[in-house]
Amino acid sequence: MAYDVGVVGAGFGGLAAAAELSKQGKNVIVFEASNELGGSAGKYERNGYRFQSGATVGMGFEEGGVFDTLFKSLQLQKPPMTLLNPIMDIHMPDRTIHYYREKKEWYQEIERNFPESASSIQAFYDEVFYVGQLVDQLLDRVPVFPPKTPTDWTRLVSMVNPTSVRLLPYLNQTVYDRLKKYHLHEHELFRIFLNGELMDSVQTSVEYCPAFLGYAALQTFHKGAYAVHGGLATVAEQLADYVKSCGNEVLLRYPIHHIEKKHGHFHLHSKRNSIFEVEKLVLNHSVHNLPDTLSEDLMKQSYIHPEKENNREAWGAFIIHAGVDERVFQHTDVSYHQFIAPDHPDDLHDGGQFLLSLSAPEDIRMAPEGKRSLTISTHTDVKQWWDADDYEQKKEEMKDRLIDTVEHYFPGFKEGLDIVLPGTPVTFQKWLRRRDGKVGGYAPTGRYSWLNSYSIRSGIKDVYLCGDTVFPGAGTLGVTLSGLMAARELLR
Ligand SMILES: Cc1cc2nc3c(=O)[nH]c(=O)nc-3n(C[C@H](O)[C@H](O)[C@H](O)COP(=O)(O)OP(=O)(O)OC[C@H]3O[C@@H](n4cnc5c(N)ncnc54)[C@H](O)[C@@H]3O)c2cc1C
Repeated sequence: MAYDVGVVGAGFGGLAAAAELSKQGKNVIVFEASNELGGSAGKYERNGYRFQSGATVGMGFEEGGVFDTLFKSLQLQKPPMTLLNPIMDIHMPDRTIHYYREKKEWYQEIERNFPESASSIQAFYDEVFYVGQLVDQLLDRVPVFPPKTPTDWTRLVSMVNPTSVRLLPYLNQTVYDRLKKYHLHEHELFRIFLNGELMDSVQTSVEYCPAFLGYAALQTFHKGAYAVHGGLATVAEQLADYVKSCGNEVLLRYPIHHIEKKHGHFHLHSKRNSIFEVEKLVLNHSVHNLPDTLSEDLMKQSYIHPEKENNREAWGAFIIHAGVDERVFQHTDVSYHQFIAPDHPDDLHDGGQFLLSLSAPEDIRMAPEGKRSLTISTHTDVKQWWDADDYEQKKEEMKDRLIDTVEHYFPGFKEGLDIVLPGTPVTFQKWLRRRDGKVGGYAPTGRYSWLNSYSIRSGIKDVYLCGDTVFPGAGTLGVTLSGLMAARELLR
Protein backbone atom coordinates (compact mmCIF):
# COMPACT_ATOMS: atom_id res chain seq x y z
CA MET A 1 0.00 0.00 0.00
CA ALA A 2 1.26 3.49 -0.81
CA TYR A 3 0.77 6.25 1.74
CA ASP A 4 -0.72 9.51 0.46
CA VAL A 5 2.21 11.56 1.81
CA GLY A 6 5.62 10.79 3.27
CA VAL A 7 7.26 13.48 5.39
CA VAL A 8 11.03 13.21 5.86
CA GLY A 9 12.16 14.85 9.10
CA ALA A 10 10.20 15.65 12.25
CA GLY A 11 11.50 19.19 12.70
CA PHE A 12 8.92 21.94 13.20
CA GLY A 13 8.49 22.29 9.42
CA GLY A 14 7.78 18.59 8.86
CA LEU A 15 5.51 18.27 11.88
CA ALA A 16 3.46 21.34 10.93
CA ALA A 17 3.02 19.95 7.41
CA ALA A 18 2.12 16.49 8.75
CA ALA A 19 -0.43 17.96 11.20
CA GLU A 20 -2.12 20.04 8.50
CA LEU A 21 -2.21 17.10 6.07
CA SER A 22 -3.58 14.82 8.80
CA LYS A 23 -6.27 17.35 9.59
CA GLN A 24 -7.31 17.23 5.95
CA GLY A 25 -7.68 13.45 6.11
CA LYS A 26 -4.50 12.43 4.33
CA ASN A 27 -2.81 9.15 5.10
CA VAL A 28 0.58 10.43 6.30
CA ILE A 29 3.80 8.79 7.48
CA VAL A 30 6.60 10.83 9.12
CA PHE A 31 10.18 9.55 9.20
CA GLU A 32 12.59 10.92 11.78
CA ALA A 33 16.19 9.74 11.81
CA SER A 34 16.93 10.59 15.43
CA ASN A 35 15.38 9.44 18.67
CA GLU A 36 13.71 12.81 19.31
CA LEU A 37 11.09 15.08 17.79
CA GLY A 38 11.60 18.74 16.94
CA GLY A 39 15.07 18.70 15.31
CA SER A 40 16.93 21.96 16.02
CA ALA A 41 14.07 22.88 18.37
CA GLY A 42 13.98 19.49 20.09
CA LYS A 43 15.49 18.23 23.33
CA TYR A 44 17.43 15.47 25.01
CA GLU A 45 17.67 14.36 28.60
CA ARG A 46 20.76 13.74 30.72
CA ASN A 47 21.44 13.42 34.48
CA GLY A 48 17.98 14.71 35.46
CA TYR A 49 18.16 17.71 33.10
CA ARG A 50 16.24 18.41 29.92
CA PHE A 51 18.37 20.28 27.39
CA GLN A 52 17.00 22.13 24.35
CA SER A 53 18.86 21.07 21.22
CA GLY A 54 18.99 24.61 19.78
CA ALA A 55 15.95 26.90 19.87
CA THR A 56 14.84 28.23 23.24
CA VAL A 57 12.76 31.34 22.52
CA GLY A 58 9.19 30.60 21.44
CA MET A 59 7.43 33.11 19.23
CA GLY A 60 4.07 33.21 17.45
CA PHE A 61 2.07 32.05 20.50
CA GLU A 62 0.31 35.38 21.05
CA GLU A 63 -3.34 35.79 20.02
CA GLY A 64 -3.44 35.53 16.22
CA GLY A 65 0.21 34.36 16.01
CA VAL A 66 1.24 31.42 13.80
CA PHE A 67 1.17 28.82 16.61
CA ASP A 68 -1.92 30.29 18.24
CA THR A 69 -3.78 29.96 14.92
CA LEU A 70 -2.38 26.48 14.23
CA PHE A 71 -3.27 25.19 17.68
CA LYS A 72 -6.80 26.59 17.38
CA SER A 73 -7.30 24.98 13.99
CA LEU A 74 -6.11 21.61 15.37
CA GLN A 75 -8.17 22.15 18.56
CA LEU A 76 -5.08 21.74 20.73
CA GLN A 77 -4.34 23.50 24.02
CA LYS A 78 -1.22 25.63 24.01
CA PRO A 79 1.35 24.30 26.51
CA PRO A 80 2.07 26.31 29.66
CA MET A 81 4.60 29.04 28.97
CA THR A 82 6.12 32.15 30.54
CA LEU A 83 5.83 35.44 28.67
CA LEU A 84 9.25 37.13 28.68
CA ASN A 85 9.38 40.75 29.74
CA PRO A 86 12.14 41.86 29.53
CA ILE A 87 12.62 39.59 26.55
CA MET A 88 16.27 39.44 27.53
CA ASP A 89 19.02 41.40 29.20
CA ILE A 90 21.84 42.46 26.93
CA HIS A 91 25.14 42.59 28.77
CA MET A 92 27.56 45.01 27.16
CA PRO A 93 31.01 45.97 28.38
CA ASP A 94 29.74 49.14 30.07
CA ARG A 95 26.02 48.54 30.64
CA THR A 96 23.11 46.14 30.71
CA ILE A 97 20.21 46.92 28.42
CA HIS A 98 16.84 45.51 29.46
CA TYR A 99 15.11 44.61 26.22
CA TYR A 100 11.47 45.18 27.16
CA ARG A 101 8.58 43.75 25.22
CA GLU A 102 6.12 46.55 25.90
CA LYS A 103 6.69 49.51 23.60
CA LYS A 104 6.35 52.12 26.35
CA GLU A 105 8.87 50.44 28.66
CA TRP A 106 11.21 49.81 25.72
CA TYR A 107 11.11 53.47 24.68
CA GLN A 108 11.93 54.51 28.26
CA GLU A 109 14.85 52.07 28.24
CA ILE A 110 16.04 53.63 24.97
CA GLU A 111 15.99 57.04 26.69
CA ARG A 112 17.98 55.62 29.62
CA ASN A 113 20.66 54.04 27.45
CA PHE A 114 20.87 56.34 24.45
CA PRO A 115 19.85 59.78 25.84
CA GLU A 116 21.35 61.82 23.00
CA SER A 117 19.81 59.77 20.20
CA ALA A 118 16.64 58.56 21.89
CA SER A 119 14.20 60.34 19.60
CA SER A 120 15.95 59.03 16.45
CA ILE A 121 16.04 55.47 17.81
CA GLN A 122 12.39 55.67 18.80
CA ALA A 123 11.51 56.97 15.32
CA PHE A 124 13.48 54.06 13.85
CA TYR A 125 11.50 51.66 16.06
CA ASP A 126 8.22 53.29 14.98
CA GLU A 127 9.25 52.33 11.46
CA VAL A 128 10.14 48.79 12.61
CA PHE A 129 6.64 48.30 14.08
CA TYR A 130 4.93 49.84 11.07
CA VAL A 131 6.78 47.73 8.49
CA GLY A 132 6.72 44.57 10.61
CA GLN A 133 2.96 44.74 10.69
CA LEU A 134 2.78 45.17 6.88
CA VAL A 135 4.93 42.06 6.44
CA ASP A 136 2.65 40.11 8.80
CA GLN A 137 -0.39 41.03 6.74
CA LEU A 138 1.26 39.61 3.64
CA LEU A 139 2.57 36.45 5.31
CA ASP A 140 -0.93 35.78 6.68
CA ARG A 141 -1.89 34.95 3.12
CA VAL A 142 0.83 32.26 3.03
CA PRO A 143 2.22 33.11 -0.42
CA VAL A 144 4.52 30.74 -2.30
CA PHE A 145 7.73 32.67 -2.70
CA PRO A 146 9.74 32.92 -4.91
CA PRO A 147 6.99 32.20 -7.45
CA LYS A 148 7.74 29.22 -9.68
CA THR A 149 4.50 28.39 -11.43
CA PRO A 150 1.95 30.56 -13.30
CA THR A 151 -0.44 30.04 -10.34
CA ASP A 152 2.21 31.34 -7.90
CA TRP A 153 2.65 34.42 -10.08
CA THR A 154 -1.09 35.00 -10.39
CA ARG A 155 -1.50 34.77 -6.62
CA LEU A 156 1.45 37.04 -5.98
CA VAL A 157 0.14 39.64 -8.41
CA SER A 158 -3.27 39.46 -6.70
CA MET A 159 -1.50 40.48 -3.48
CA VAL A 160 -0.57 43.86 -4.93
CA ASN A 161 -2.68 46.22 -2.89
CA PRO A 162 -2.13 49.40 -0.85
CA THR A 163 -0.47 47.33 1.94
CA SER A 164 2.10 45.67 -0.30
CA VAL A 165 2.80 48.92 -2.15
CA ARG A 166 3.68 50.58 1.16
CA LEU A 167 6.31 47.86 1.66
CA LEU A 168 8.17 48.64 -1.56
CA PRO A 169 10.74 51.09 -0.12
CA TYR A 170 11.85 48.44 2.38
CA LEU A 171 12.30 45.69 -0.20
CA ASN A 172 15.35 47.24 -1.83
CA GLN A 173 17.21 48.62 1.18
CA THR A 174 19.16 47.12 4.03
CA VAL A 175 18.66 47.93 7.69
CA TYR A 176 21.89 49.92 7.42
CA ASP A 177 20.36 52.04 4.63
CA ARG A 178 17.41 52.80 6.88
CA LEU A 179 19.69 53.64 9.82
CA LYS A 180 21.29 56.28 7.63
CA LYS A 181 17.94 57.98 7.25
CA TYR A 182 17.83 58.39 11.04
CA HIS A 183 21.55 59.34 11.26
CA LEU A 184 22.11 56.22 13.34
CA HIS A 185 24.44 54.32 11.01
CA GLU A 186 27.50 55.55 12.90
CA HIS A 187 26.02 55.09 16.35
CA GLU A 188 28.33 52.33 17.54
CA LEU A 189 26.48 51.28 20.67
CA PHE A 190 23.09 51.07 18.97
CA ARG A 191 24.61 49.20 16.02
CA ILE A 192 26.18 46.62 18.38
CA PHE A 193 22.83 46.20 20.10
CA LEU A 194 20.92 45.86 16.82
CA ASN A 195 23.44 43.43 15.35
CA GLY A 196 22.99 41.20 18.39
CA GLU A 197 19.23 41.04 17.85
CA LEU A 198 19.52 40.55 14.09
CA MET A 199 22.12 37.79 14.37
CA ASP A 200 19.81 35.90 16.72
CA SER A 201 16.81 36.20 14.43
CA VAL A 202 17.97 36.76 10.82
CA GLN A 203 21.56 35.43 11.09
CA THR A 204 23.16 38.60 9.80
CA SER A 205 24.11 42.16 10.66
CA VAL A 206 22.63 45.55 9.72
CA GLU A 207 24.79 45.96 6.59
CA TYR A 208 23.57 42.74 4.98
CA CYS A 209 20.04 42.46 6.32
CA PRO A 210 17.17 43.35 3.94
CA ALA A 211 15.17 46.00 5.80
CA PHE A 212 11.77 44.31 5.66
CA LEU A 213 13.18 41.01 6.96
CA GLY A 214 15.06 42.66 9.80
CA TYR A 215 12.05 44.76 10.77
CA ALA A 216 9.72 41.77 10.72
CA ALA A 217 12.10 39.86 12.99
CA LEU A 218 12.62 42.77 15.40
CA GLN A 219 8.91 43.42 15.86
CA THR A 220 8.22 39.70 16.41
CA PHE A 221 10.18 39.89 19.69
CA HIS A 222 7.77 42.59 20.87
CA LYS A 223 4.62 40.69 19.91
CA GLY A 224 5.59 38.09 22.48
CA ALA A 225 8.61 35.92 23.23
CA TYR A 226 7.93 32.90 25.45
CA ALA A 227 9.72 30.25 27.45
CA VAL A 228 7.59 27.21 26.66
CA HIS A 229 7.58 24.88 29.66
CA GLY A 230 9.40 21.66 28.92
CA GLY A 231 11.08 23.53 26.04
CA LEU A 232 9.86 23.95 22.47
CA ALA A 233 10.05 20.16 22.20
CA THR A 234 6.70 20.13 24.02
CA VAL A 235 5.12 21.75 20.95
CA ALA A 236 6.78 19.19 18.66
CA GLU A 237 5.41 16.39 20.86
CA GLN A 238 1.90 17.84 20.70
CA LEU A 239 2.02 18.09 16.91
CA ALA A 240 3.28 14.50 16.60
CA ASP A 241 0.55 13.28 18.99
CA TYR A 242 -2.01 15.07 16.86
CA VAL A 243 -0.72 13.33 13.71
CA LYS A 244 -0.96 9.98 15.49
CA SER A 245 -4.43 10.75 16.85
CA CYS A 246 -5.58 11.02 13.22
CA GLY A 247 -4.49 7.41 12.69
CA ASN A 248 -1.17 8.35 11.04
CA GLU A 249 2.37 7.27 11.82
CA VAL A 250 5.40 9.11 13.21
CA LEU A 251 8.43 6.83 13.16
CA LEU A 252 11.49 7.71 15.23
CA ARG A 253 14.91 6.22 14.42
CA TYR A 254 13.86 5.80 10.78
CA PRO A 255 16.48 7.61 8.69
CA ILE A 256 15.66 7.85 5.00
CA HIS A 257 18.82 6.93 3.12
CA HIS A 258 17.61 7.07 -0.45
CA ILE A 259 14.57 8.31 -2.38
CA GLU A 260 13.74 7.24 -5.92
CA LYS A 261 10.68 7.20 -8.12
CA LYS A 262 9.45 3.86 -9.48
CA HIS A 263 6.17 2.95 -11.16
CA GLY A 264 4.59 6.29 -10.30
CA HIS A 265 5.41 6.13 -6.56
CA PHE A 266 8.27 7.42 -4.47
CA HIS A 267 10.24 4.65 -2.81
CA LEU A 268 11.84 5.65 0.49
CA HIS A 269 14.65 3.39 1.64
CA SER A 270 15.20 3.23 5.37
CA LYS A 271 16.89 1.01 7.93
CA ARG A 272 17.22 -2.75 7.57
CA ASN A 273 16.40 -2.53 3.86
CA SER A 274 12.84 -1.39 4.57
CA ILE A 275 11.14 0.43 1.67
CA PHE A 276 8.07 2.65 2.03
CA GLU A 277 5.96 3.74 -0.93
CA VAL A 278 4.33 7.18 -0.96
CA GLU A 279 2.48 9.20 -3.57
CA LYS A 280 3.72 12.62 -2.52
CA LEU A 281 6.58 13.92 -0.43
CA VAL A 282 7.31 16.74 1.98
CA LEU A 283 11.04 16.99 2.65
CA ASN A 284 11.96 18.66 5.92
CA HIS A 285 15.58 17.57 5.97
CA SER A 286 17.30 20.71 4.82
CA VAL A 287 18.12 21.66 1.22
CA HIS A 288 21.79 21.15 2.22
CA ASN A 289 21.00 17.41 2.53
CA LEU A 290 18.96 16.81 -0.62
CA PRO A 291 21.84 15.44 -2.72
CA ASP A 292 22.47 12.85 0.02
CA THR A 293 18.99 11.32 -0.23
CA LEU A 294 17.43 12.09 -3.62
CA SER A 295 18.31 9.78 -6.51
CA GLU A 296 20.41 11.31 -9.24
CA ASP A 297 17.41 11.39 -11.52
CA LEU A 298 15.21 13.25 -9.01
CA MET A 299 18.03 15.64 -8.17
CA LYS A 300 18.33 16.52 -11.85
CA GLN A 301 14.63 17.43 -11.97
CA SER A 302 14.91 19.75 -8.96
CA TYR A 303 15.51 23.50 -9.04
CA ILE A 304 18.47 23.05 -6.73
CA HIS A 305 21.96 23.17 -8.11
CA PRO A 306 24.12 21.33 -5.55
CA GLU A 307 27.31 23.27 -6.21
CA LYS A 308 25.63 26.68 -6.02
CA GLU A 309 23.77 25.59 -2.92
CA ASN A 310 26.97 24.46 -1.26
CA ASN A 311 28.56 27.86 -1.86
CA ARG A 312 25.77 29.81 -0.17
CA GLU A 313 26.61 31.28 3.19
CA ALA A 314 25.24 29.47 6.22
CA TRP A 315 26.31 29.51 9.83
CA GLY A 316 26.92 26.70 12.23
CA ALA A 317 26.31 26.85 15.97
CA PHE A 318 28.58 26.25 18.93
CA ILE A 319 26.45 25.28 21.88
CA ILE A 320 26.88 24.50 25.56
CA HIS A 321 24.25 22.63 27.55
CA ALA A 322 24.77 22.79 31.27
CA GLY A 323 23.14 22.61 34.64
CA VAL A 324 23.67 25.46 37.05
CA ASP A 325 22.93 26.18 40.68
CA GLU A 326 19.85 28.44 40.77
CA ARG A 327 21.59 30.74 43.28
CA VAL A 328 23.95 32.03 40.57
CA PHE A 329 21.06 33.91 38.95
CA GLN A 330 19.07 34.63 42.11
CA HIS A 331 19.40 38.41 41.73
CA THR A 332 17.65 38.57 38.37
CA ASP A 333 14.16 37.56 37.19
CA VAL A 334 15.38 37.52 33.61
CA SER A 335 15.98 34.08 32.09
CA TYR A 336 17.46 35.08 28.71
CA HIS A 337 20.78 36.88 28.58
CA GLN A 338 22.70 38.07 25.58
CA PHE A 339 26.39 38.68 26.12
CA ILE A 340 28.63 40.95 24.14
CA ALA A 341 32.21 39.86 24.83
CA PRO A 342 34.06 42.67 26.62
CA ASP A 343 37.22 42.13 24.55
CA HIS A 344 35.58 41.96 21.07
CA PRO A 345 32.22 43.77 21.04
CA ASP A 346 32.21 43.84 17.22
CA ASP A 347 32.58 40.08 16.71
CA LEU A 348 29.16 38.71 15.97
CA HIS A 349 30.09 35.06 16.07
CA ASP A 350 32.42 32.52 17.67
CA GLY A 351 31.82 33.88 21.12
CA GLY A 352 31.88 37.62 20.31
CA GLN A 353 28.18 37.65 21.06
CA PHE A 354 25.97 34.83 22.29
CA LEU A 355 22.71 33.95 24.00
CA LEU A 356 22.32 32.17 27.32
CA SER A 357 18.84 30.79 27.99
CA LEU A 358 17.92 29.53 31.45
CA SER A 359 14.96 27.28 32.08
CA ALA A 360 12.13 29.10 33.88
CA PRO A 361 12.51 28.57 37.66
CA GLU A 362 8.94 27.23 37.82
CA ASP A 363 9.57 24.72 35.01
CA ILE A 364 10.30 21.60 37.04
CA ARG A 365 10.59 19.35 33.97
CA MET A 366 13.85 21.01 32.97
CA ALA A 367 16.15 20.49 35.97
CA PRO A 368 16.49 18.83 39.37
CA GLU A 369 15.45 20.88 42.40
CA GLY A 370 17.74 23.82 43.11
CA LYS A 371 19.17 23.75 39.58
CA ARG A 372 18.37 25.27 36.23
CA SER A 373 19.07 23.91 32.80
CA LEU A 374 20.83 26.27 30.43
CA THR A 375 21.72 26.59 26.77
CA ILE A 376 24.46 28.85 25.46
CA SER A 377 24.70 29.29 21.70
CA THR A 378 26.87 31.34 19.41
CA HIS A 379 27.13 31.42 15.63
CA THR A 380 30.27 29.80 14.30
CA ASP A 381 32.03 29.42 10.98
CA VAL A 382 31.48 25.75 10.15
CA LYS A 383 34.67 25.16 8.16
CA GLN A 384 36.99 25.45 11.14
CA TRP A 385 35.45 22.41 12.90
CA TRP A 386 36.28 19.72 10.39
CA ASP A 387 40.00 19.45 11.01
CA ALA A 388 40.28 16.49 13.35
CA ASP A 389 43.77 17.40 14.61
CA ASP A 390 42.89 20.40 16.70
CA TYR A 391 39.16 19.71 17.12
CA GLU A 392 39.21 18.85 20.84
CA GLN A 393 41.49 21.75 21.69
CA LYS A 394 39.37 24.23 19.73
CA LYS A 395 36.20 22.95 21.39
CA GLU A 396 37.76 23.36 24.82
CA GLU A 397 38.97 26.88 24.00
CA MET A 398 35.58 28.01 22.73
CA LYS A 399 33.82 26.48 25.74
CA ASP A 400 36.19 28.34 28.08
CA ARG A 401 35.79 31.61 26.19
CA LEU A 402 31.99 31.50 26.55
CA ILE A 403 32.04 30.43 30.17
CA ASP A 404 34.63 33.09 31.05
CA THR A 405 32.45 35.78 29.46
CA VAL A 406 29.43 34.73 31.54
CA GLU A 407 31.66 34.60 34.63
CA HIS A 408 32.73 38.19 33.87
CA TYR A 409 29.12 39.37 34.10
CA PHE A 410 27.89 36.82 36.70
CA PRO A 411 30.72 36.05 39.14
CA GLY A 412 30.32 32.58 40.64
CA PHE A 413 28.91 31.13 37.41
CA LYS A 414 31.82 28.76 36.84
CA GLU A 415 31.63 27.37 40.34
CA GLY A 416 27.84 26.91 40.11
CA LEU A 417 28.06 24.75 36.99
CA ASP A 418 27.00 21.14 37.26
CA ILE A 419 27.18 19.13 34.05
CA VAL A 420 28.73 20.89 30.99
CA LEU A 421 28.18 19.51 27.47
CA PRO A 422 29.66 21.50 24.58
CA GLY A 423 28.59 20.84 20.98
CA THR A 424 29.93 21.98 17.62
CA PRO A 425 28.79 21.77 13.97
CA VAL A 426 30.15 18.21 14.07
CA THR A 427 27.58 17.48 16.79
CA PHE A 428 24.76 19.02 14.73
CA GLN A 429 25.71 16.86 11.78
CA LYS A 430 25.92 13.76 13.92
CA TRP A 431 22.63 14.13 15.82
CA LEU A 432 20.46 16.19 13.49
CA ARG A 433 22.06 15.25 10.17
CA ARG A 434 22.61 18.89 9.29
CA ARG A 435 25.14 18.59 6.47
CA ASP A 436 28.53 20.10 7.49
CA GLY A 437 26.75 21.24 10.67
CA LYS A 438 25.02 24.14 8.92
CA VAL A 439 22.00 25.37 10.85
CA GLY A 440 19.60 28.29 10.68
CA GLY A 441 19.18 28.49 6.90
CA TYR A 442 21.03 30.90 4.65
CA ALA A 443 22.38 34.15 6.03
CA PRO A 444 21.10 37.14 4.00
CA THR A 445 23.97 38.77 2.14
CA GLY A 446 22.49 42.08 1.00
CA ARG A 447 19.46 44.08 0.03
CA TYR A 448 18.27 41.72 -2.72
CA SER A 449 19.41 38.43 -1.18
CA TRP A 450 15.81 37.51 -0.27
CA LEU A 451 15.12 37.06 -3.99
CA ASN A 452 17.50 34.06 -3.96
CA SER A 453 15.42 32.08 -1.46
CA TYR A 454 14.36 28.55 -2.28
CA SER A 455 10.62 28.10 -2.38
CA ILE A 456 8.57 25.16 -1.07
CA ARG A 457 8.50 23.92 -4.67
CA SER A 458 11.34 21.52 -5.35
CA GLY A 459 10.89 21.47 -9.13
CA ILE A 460 10.07 17.74 -8.85
CA LYS A 461 6.42 16.90 -9.38
CA ASP A 462 4.70 16.03 -6.08
CA VAL A 463 7.77 16.85 -3.95
CA TYR A 464 7.58 19.85 -1.61
CA LEU A 465 10.23 21.35 0.65
CA CYS A 466 9.91 22.98 4.05
CA GLY A 467 12.20 24.11 6.86
CA ASP A 468 14.80 26.74 7.52
CA THR A 469 16.45 26.52 4.10
CA VAL A 470 13.28 27.62 2.26
CA PHE A 471 11.27 30.85 2.38
CA PRO A 472 10.54 32.50 4.82
CA GLY A 473 13.60 31.01 6.50
CA ALA A 474 14.81 30.09 9.96
CA GLY A 475 13.14 30.16 13.35
CA THR A 476 10.42 27.83 14.59
CA LEU A 477 7.83 30.34 13.43
CA GLY A 478 9.23 30.67 9.89
CA VAL A 479 9.69 26.92 9.37
CA THR A 480 6.19 26.22 10.65
CA LEU A 481 4.87 28.64 8.05
CA SER A 482 6.83 26.86 5.30
CA GLY A 483 5.47 23.50 6.52
CA LEU A 484 1.93 24.86 6.30
CA MET A 485 2.61 26.37 2.87
CA ALA A 486 3.96 23.02 1.63
CA ALA A 487 0.94 21.13 2.99
CA ARG A 488 -1.55 23.58 1.48
CA GLU A 489 0.10 23.51 -1.93
CA LEU A 490 0.24 19.73 -1.86
CA LEU A 491 -3.51 19.65 -1.10
CA ARG A 492 -4.45 22.08 -3.88
C1 LIG B 1 21.55 27.03 18.32
C2 LIG B 1 20.24 27.42 17.74
C3 LIG B 1 19.41 28.31 18.42
C4 LIG B 1 18.18 28.67 17.88
N1 LIG B 1 17.36 29.49 18.60
C5 LIG B 1 16.09 29.69 18.17
C6 LIG B 1 15.14 30.31 19.03
O1 LIG B 1 15.46 30.69 20.15
N2 LIG B 1 13.87 30.44 18.57
C7 LIG B 1 13.48 29.97 17.33
O2 LIG B 1 12.30 30.10 16.97
N3 LIG B 1 14.36 29.37 16.51
C8 LIG B 1 15.64 29.20 16.91
N4 LIG B 1 16.52 28.52 16.13
C9 LIG B 1 16.13 28.13 14.77
C10 LIG B 1 15.19 26.93 14.76
O3 LIG B 1 15.58 25.99 15.71
C11 LIG B 1 15.24 26.27 13.39
O4 LIG B 1 15.10 27.23 12.36
C12 LIG B 1 14.13 25.26 13.21
O5 LIG B 1 13.93 24.49 14.37
C13 LIG B 1 14.48 24.37 12.04
O6 LIG B 1 13.42 23.52 11.79
P1 LIG B 1 13.35 22.64 10.47
O7 LIG B 1 11.93 22.20 10.33
O8 LIG B 1 13.95 23.37 9.34
O9 LIG B 1 14.21 21.35 10.66
P2 LIG B 1 15.26 20.74 11.69
O10 LIG B 1 15.05 21.28 13.02
O11 LIG B 1 16.60 20.71 11.09
O12 LIG B 1 14.72 19.24 11.68
C14 LIG B 1 14.92 18.38 10.62
C15 LIG B 1 14.74 16.96 11.14
O13 LIG B 1 14.97 16.07 10.07
C16 LIG B 1 15.66 14.95 10.55
N5 LIG B 1 16.34 14.34 9.42
C17 LIG B 1 17.41 14.82 8.73
N6 LIG B 1 17.74 13.97 7.75
C18 LIG B 1 16.86 12.96 7.80
C19 LIG B 1 16.69 11.78 7.04
N7 LIG B 1 17.48 11.48 6.00
N8 LIG B 1 15.69 10.92 7.38
C20 LIG B 1 14.87 11.19 8.42
N9 LIG B 1 15.00 12.30 9.17
C21 LIG B 1 15.98 13.17 8.87
C22 LIG B 1 16.60 15.49 11.60
O14 LIG B 1 17.00 14.51 12.51
C23 LIG B 1 15.73 16.59 12.24
O15 LIG B 1 15.01 16.11 13.34
C24 LIG B 1 17.77 28.15 16.64
C25 LIG B 1 18.59 27.25 15.94
C26 LIG B 1 19.80 26.86 16.48
C27 LIG B 1 20.64 25.88 15.75
